[in-house]
Amino acid sequence: MQYGMMPAGPSGVTCPWCKHYWPSTMAAAACANCGGALPAPPGPSRGLAPPPAPRRLPERYTKDLLSSKNVGALVGTVFAAFGALFAVLGLGLCFVLLPLGLGFFAFGALFGTIGGLVRSAARKSALRQIDALTRGFVAEGQLIAVRQDFSETLNERNPYRIDYVFYVNGQPVGGSTKGWDIVNALRQPGEPLWVVFVPEDPTISSVWPPIG
Ligand SMILES: [Zn+2]
Repeated sequence: MQYGMMPAGPSGVTCPWCKHYWPSTMAAAACANCGGALPAPPGPSRGLAPPPAPRRLPERYTKDLLSSKNVGALVGTVFAAFGALFAVLGLGLCFVLLPLGLGFFAFGALFGTIGGLVRSAARKSALRQIDALTRGFVAEGQLIAVRQDFSETLNERNPYRIDYVFYVNGQPVGGSTKGWDIVNALRQPGEPLWVVFVPEDPTISSVWPPIG
């Protein structure tokens, strides 16, 4: 063991479902922690095809997607809570000073409505992802582009945005996804990948397994 060594680079893989990191020496098709399918390492291999639908997703993943990892849902919930607080405060103030009470109430109602809309839109988009992953049809896709998304930063890191294309009845359909795993930096345009999509609306799709 050498001290002061730089990290050896992205050699392992992070489980996209439970975020457990597996060094390359432990490479496997499925995560020993949560049972979810692990992505193939960057390169010409598409990895194992998605299992037939309906697919069982690791429970923690769907829960995270709908709540704690869902920024829109979190922000929306906070807005809605503030709105509700102001609305209640406004109702109380109506008995003391009507114009002020009404003002508070209107502000609270507006704020709360916006929060509720943001929250429900974010949850809907998460549910669509889960829908595609659970029962989506399978297509062979191809990676188009990988770039770091500097508009989002967490712990001094930026996620990787991956654009992909797949074909439904001969028609190209595009999709994009985001992942924090540094291994994504090694992915190249043209790489094959698996895509699952909602048959009634192929614009709702996901890479399989999701990008970590
Ligand atoms: Zn896992």
